[in-house]
Amino acid sequence: MPETDPSITPPCVACGSDAVIEGAAPSYGGSASLKITVYTRPKSALRDSLVGRKSVASDGSARVCGDCGYVMVYADDPRTLWDGYIDQLANDLED
Ligand SMILES: [Zn+2]
Repeated sequence: MPETDPSITPPCVACGSDAVIEGAAPSYGGSASLKITVYTRPKSALRDSLVGRKSVASDGSARVCGDCGYVMVYADDPRTLWDGYIDQLANDLED
């Protein structure tokens, strides 16, 4: 099996194989892209029913190991998700 350059594509974290496929995307038969979502106000049922859940999202991409099938999913904009998570923690403290 051909190998990828480990300086560009890290090996599979599950089996160590160099046969990692970049840029894969989950597919359900449609063309929707992968989204990673963090809810900034996920816990209050009363607040959710009144104003709706608030969230931030990032597009996602995946790497797939061509040997064992392990799928590694990455958020393209992790900082936005982290900031949303910090908001979630702050909102939990307010409840
Ligand atoms: Zn693997």
